[in-house]
Amino acid sequence: LWTSLTDYFKTQLNPVSYETWISSAEPKQFINNDLIIELPSQLHKTYWIQHLAPKVVAFLYETTGEEINPVLQIKGEITASAQTKMSLANTAQSNNDNVPTFMRDAKLNDRYTFSTFVTGKGNQMAHAAALVVSEEPGRLYNPLFFYGGVGLGKTHLMHAIGHQMLLNNPDAKVKYVTSEAFTNGFINSLRNNTPEDFRKEYRSVDLLLVDDIQFFADKESTQEEFFHTFNSLYDDKKQIVLSSDRLPNEIPKLQKRLISRFKWGLSVDITPPDLETRIAILRNKSDAENLEIPDDTLSYIAGQIDSNIRELEGALVRVQAYATLSNSEITTSLAADALKNLSLKDKSNEVSIAIVQDRVAKYFHVTVSDLKGKKRVKAIVMPRQIAMYLSRELTENSLPKIGSEFGGKDHTTVIHAHEKIAVMLETDDKLQRQISDLKSELN
Ligand code: ADP
Ligand code: MG
Repeated sequence: LWTSLTDYFKTQLNPVSYETWISSAEPKQFINNDLIIELPSQLHKTYWIQHLAPKVVAFLYETTGEEINPVLQIKGEITASAQTKMSLANTAQSNNDNVPTFMRDAKLNDRYTFSTFVTGKGNQMAHAAALVVSEEPGRLYNPLFFYGGVGLGKTHLMHAIGHQMLLNNPDAKVKYVTSEAFTNGFINSLRNNTPEDFRKEYRSVDLLLVDDIQFFADKESTQEEFFHTFNSLYDDKKQIVLSSDRLPNEIPKLQKRLISRFKWGLSVDITPPDLETRIAILRNKSDAENLEIPDDTLSYIAGQIDSNIRELEGALVRVQAYATLSNSEITTSLAADALKNLSLKDKSNEVSIAIVQDRVAKYFHVTVSDLKGKKRVKAIVMPRQIAMYLSRELTENSLPKIGSEFGGKDHTTVIHAHEKIAVMLETDDKLQRQISDLKSELN
């Protein structure tokens, strides 16, 4: 039954949608005409309820003659038979599959599409949200806000939204800019006495993608202009997608009214990929370039670089170049040679979260797993908060990344810890000494 259902959706949805919504779903049980389906996240569930569940009911009714009810559950979540009752609804829907991409002035990178984007735990939510927005711009998540560290795929996803929207609607007006390009465009328009043209250009689009908005910090008049652009598009129900390396309220000197607007929609973080995802990304990339690389070599490369996909791709290029230059096949030992200096350099220059944890644990005579754990005793809570504080101060990692390195804690826990230590530092002599000891040891 499930296979015929998925086959049916294959004909109904474009390949990207199919991958995202159907391949990620798992049939769990079939009891009393309830079909229990497990989905990866709340976002998937919402999408299923709104778009897919009615079709499932209709399809199953047509094939079996019975009213079968999809019961949607989120993976890992214990649901007390939370039923999602569906009624028969319209089934007509189709997505045009192979329409060529029209570029117009969107300036989208052809490589950055949904089909080249590998999903995994760290980016699944962001990917799903991106897809929703490209299919139903301006309706569900407006604005959509991506945040996360460098090289994790924010720009890639933004371009993918643009491509997908043009695929669905070749007449759509899509505009992608970095916040710097927006700023420069605005300043130039003032200089050339053409601010009206600038406004018209930005306020007439169907989809506006503004990348790296942390660079709006400090730019008062640009923020003012962007505020009005935002309002105008929002009022017209046009889709806005933004990205930043951190949450809006952590961007220094970002106006309160912008922060509050950015929170109207959906903010999703992208966290570093796990090993499996990194291997899948490398596999994809090497297939695309027709490279012959053994599995264990890919795993080796993926093991060397763990927090930045751009660097991961760079490592692959490096290995490839190394093989070409030495006229040999790509093997694990060749990869090790090629990446030797790279990983050495990374480790000598940078304090990592792991090093902070190690030193803080030793200093306070606790273990690293205590720091990563959940115990609430004072002798552990304090070192844990200090370790989070120092990770924030001394490393380049994002808050979500720090949280995840501390046993999968939420980024708000890190913010809280950082704030608490910062406040205490103002008056607590002993803490001041401890922090400065640790800092000098770490530097
Ligand atoms: P960010 O904007 O977050 O700094 P980018 O979107 O520029 O990161 O991604 C850096 C590089 O990694 C790009 O070449 C992009 O194509 C690639 N990349 C990022 N995430 C993925 C992914 N999930 N699958 C495939 N490639 C990815
Ligand atoms: Mg980027």
